[in-house]
Amino acid sequence: MLTLESELRETMSRSEFQLIQSYFSDPEQVSRSDIVLGIGDDCAIAQPRKQSNLAFSIDTLISGVHFPDDTPPEAIAYKALAVNLSDLAAMGAEPAWFTLSLSLPEMQCDKSREEWLEKFSLSLFSLAKEHNIQLIGGDTTKGALSVTIQVSGYLDKSSGMRRSGAKPDDLIIVTGPLGGAAIGLDIALKQNTEQFSCLSEHDKQDALNALNYPKARIKEGLSLQTIAHSALDLSDGLLSDLKHILKASNVGAELILEKIPLAASLTCLDKQAAWEKALTGGDDYELCFTLAKDDWPAIKEQYPQFIEVGIITSQKGLRLLGTGRLPHDRQEYKIKTRGYDHFG
Ligand code: ADP
Ligand code: MG
Repeated sequence: MLTLESELRETMSRSEFQLIQSYFSDPEQVSRSDIVLGIGDDCAIAQPRKQSNLAFSIDTLISGVHFPDDTPPEAIAYKALAVNLSDLAAMGAEPAWFTLSLSLPEMQCDKSREEWLEKFSLSLFSLAKEHNIQLIGGDTTKGALSVTIQVSGYLDKSSGMRRSGAKPDDLIIVTGPLGGAAIGLDIALKQNTEQFSCLSEHDKQDALNALNYPKARIKEGLSLQTIAHSALDLSDGLLSDLKHILKASNVGAELILEKIPLAASLTCLDKQAAWEKALTGGDDYELCFTLAKDDWPAIKEQYPQFIEVGIITSQKGLRLLGTGRLPHDRQEYKIKTRGYDHFG
């Protein structure tokens, strides 16, 4: 006989089952030959390629912490998968499978919940298709809105894109402009309004897109896997992220301020404020990697948007060099703010 409590649980799990059926078992979704059993049983089963290693990563996005509470569901889904893909990109891995743990609050009515889930899952599957990554399972619970995604991918056995591989005299490269997502966050939260007051509506939308729809540099990561000595993706700002490479590799670095590629949406700021935003703003998800000088011209030709921002040194510490035109004119520059640190 069912007790009241287990009866309640029964109804919840029935609707949970329907929810998974309706929104996360899309027959159109990526279906890979290395998945023996996908969504629907107690576990998914994979038959991985024997000649590769597997790479794993997991990231949680919590409402009000990692995205503003009023972020649209399509952006939440996109970003939750994109930031995980970005970790695969930073290792030079090829995306394969992912699992999704979704905690959903009570919504006003069934209709708003359905609309939310419809938008969320469409956006999720659309990005998944772009990268041929298959949703193979997950968990669905009721609670404060949060999304956890775990990704796995194939990694070439010879790939060496670890944080620990940087060598003195390596060039430091970033794959695209920085600071756009930080302005996007200011716009979304309506804070520091002077930083975006001069932007057109179109530019503001671009900055919001940089925040909500970050591009995972998968193709770029795959091209770099045998060339880069070290790499990571920029989630907390170049200054604090680069320090992870320096610490793991036991080296130092010099960054040249004028070379930092600034997002177009930083134009309302003076030069110094723009540099600070680009260096310390989070959520850009460009890659930062280091490589031998001799390997740079070929990579630059393949990816003209990549920018050389500095050099790895045997002298420890991270130095920011200012605006002098010649190296011996360059003064050291002190930055006021720091990158985002949840426990800082
Ligand atoms: P169990 O209770 O055995 O853990 P669940 O009832 O939680 O299983 O889930 C049933 C099936 O649906 C499992 O295959 C699980 O991986 C999948 N699943 C649950 N939630 C999601 C989700 N949000 N996205 C994708 N698959 C999910
Ligand atoms: Mg089970």
